[in-house]
Amino acid sequence: MPRRPRLHPGTRLFLVYAAVSLVPVTLLGLALIHGYQERGQAHAREQGLAEAQVIEQMAVAPALRGADLSVGLTPHQRSYLQSSTDLALFNGSVTSLQVLDFEGQVAFSDDGGSTSQVAVDDPGFQTALAGGTDLRISGRSVRVLQPVFPETSGQAVGVLEVYLPYSDILAKVQEETRTAVPRMLAGLLALYTVLAMISFLTTRALTRYAVEHERQALHDSLTGLPNRELFRRVASRALTRSARLGHRPGGALVVVDLDHFKEVNDTLGHHAGDELLQVVAQRLSDSLRSDDTVARLGGDEFGIILPSRDRADTVALLCEVRRALSEPVPVSGRILSVEASFGVCFFPDDADTVEGLLQHADAAMYQGKHGPQGVVVYEPGGSTPQVDALVLQGELRRALDHEQFVLLYQPKIDLATGRVTGVEALVRWQHPERGLLAPAEFLPVVERSELIVSLTRWVLGRALADLVAWTAVGHDWTVSVNVSAKNLASLSFAEEVIDLLDRSGVSPSRLCLEVTESAIAFDLETTAEVIAALSASGIAMALDDFGVGYTAISQLRALAMDEIKIDRLFITGLAELEQDRAIVGSVIDLAHSLGCTVTAEGVESAEVATWLGQAGCDHAQGYLWLRPVPWPVLAAYDQSGSALRTGQTHEHRPREVPA
Ligand code: C2E
Ligand code: CA
Ligand code: CA
Repeated sequence: MPRRPRLHPGTRLFLVYAAVSLVPVTLLGLALIHGYQERGQAHAREQGLAEAQVIEQMAVAPALRGADLSVGLTPHQRSYLQSSTDLALFNGSVTSLQVLDFEGQVAFSDDGGSTSQVAVDDPGFQTALAGGTDLRISGRSVRVLQPVFPETSGQAVGVLEVYLPYSDILAKVQEETRTAVPRMLAGLLALYTVLAMISFLTTRALTRYAVEHERQALHDSLTGLPNRELFRRVASRALTRSARLGHRPGGALVVVDLDHFKEVNDTLGHHAGDELLQVVAQRLSDSLRSDDTVARLGGDEFGIILPSRDRADTVALLCEVRRALSEPVPVSGRILSVEASFGVCFFPDDADTVEGLLQHADAAMYQGKHGPQGVVVYEPGGSTPQVDALVLQGELRRALDHEQFVLLYQPKIDLATGRVTGVEALVRWQHPERGLLAPAEFLPVVERSELIVSLTRWVLGRALADLVAWTAVGHDWTVSVNVSAKNLASLSFAEEVIDLLDRSGVSPSRLCLEVTESAIAFDLETTAEVIAALSASGIAMALDDFGVGYTAISQLRALAMDEIKIDRLFITGLAELEQDRAIVGSVIDLAHSLGCTVTAEGVESAEVATWLGQAGCDHAQGYLWLRPVPWPVLAAYDQSGSALRTGQTHEHRPREVPA
């Protein structure tokens, strides 16, 4: 069906205004014209009355001096009257003229006739009898009836009936109207134009205001991105569209949450936080197509809708977006790096309502905060992690108070000698009901809260106390402790660690702190400052999980690092993958050229250990030698010697058990 072109609401409103304001203007015009006509008539009356009066006083009254109309006029009186009225009749100011007695009988008529057009009971005649003047306009003439007062007496002697030509008066009035009405119409037109202009400008301003209001109601003022409400609408439209087209998947809904955003706000202030959000918004928009939608859902949470793309493409794209996001950002004079967790779900398979999709994407995103991938696709049948996290936080606080944490240690092997040179402290939670829990099960929740500060303090205290204990029984192992981004974001952290070392009497050279790339990347400048202070006091610094983050080589150089730990991801497949061997080989060279030692994580086979030794890797850790164990177990193994040095006796590796 052909559709009628729809008028813009602003234009429609203006047309209504224009039409409506035409009504009062027209009414005003009509009222003015009516007023002119009335004035014309009033003018005609005035003129008629004045003329009749002049005739009565100048022509009639003098001629009727001493006359008694009931007995008729004398010939002298008649001829006097005739001659005195002739002039008026001659020059046309009077059409006809009669003098009547009180009975209505004609005493004088200009044409010599004897009948009057006025009946005795005519109200005008009665008025004149009573001493008044009556004027009536009929057709083209004006009739005036008025009493005649001869000059000598104050007593009326009869009634003067005079007809004046209306056309003259009318012509004058019409002449006036002719010049006045166009002027009035021009005035009205001007008035209407002004009214129309005002309504045009008003409707235009109103329309603009409405459009702006609508825009503001649906956009985030900080980033200019669509807000949650508009995001919902777009998602809902995408769902409807995909249902109509039957594509599978119809598209993806993504929830993005920035990691460590709270720290940016807390340490650098809200202004820096705002700046960061603007950069993130820009980067998200830049890395997507025009038919994709990016919105700010609130706080540091963003939403993306990617219509009609398959699953693999979506995940690949999001990994690319995540990489683009993590490029260093200068904020408030500092270089920050943003890591973000992405939760993805697909419609209509995962849910067919916007609410359901948001929930699933949120759940997946939350898993991302726990796991390493960063981009997590929703798996149906997962738990509801948010609720778990809240419960967990309460439990963790109690766990700290009740000393439910334990430290296990994994040896660090010198690949050249096969000796244990140090140990890495790895925390476990001895949960009263759930048993021994690995960091993956609780650490993400700890790291999201201030609990991490207390936990790190506890781990450091415990590790230094254990070091004192194993030193006492003859082991010179150093200890490596993992620290989190939040620890390094605080300038007082270095002082705290140095203080702990002082109190335990441990030399700083026997402590190594391991930081992950993402912990450094978060606020490079503060972190670099803290690291420099720690390093200056003689504490060794190790860069953990190297290879899975995005640390730029230039950033690496700026940090006072002593050790680089290559992530397990590259080590596990070394024996099979030529590519991994190439990567690991070049990382070893790079680390050495920066003056760092290299540790390989996650070595599980002798073959890999041998290759690493030949490639010049300094140290290694892994199940090949030992899983994390309480330090006395490790001490027993180190004493027994050969098992650790050769890495041959897998069957003797103890299982993880708390002390
Ligand atoms: P990480 O620092 O990379 O620690 C090494 C992880 O790899 C440990 O997991 C260890 O058990 C595991 N691992 C060691 N050798 C092998 C191997 O041959 N094969 C495999 N598959 N895995 C191996 P864990 O103990 O579960 O710790 C996980 C992560 O939790 C640690 O990764 C570290 O980032 C964090 N973490 C552990 N303890 C602490 C702590 O006290 N404080 C902080 N902030 N983080 C900690
Ligand atoms: Ca570590
Ligand atoms: Ca590691």
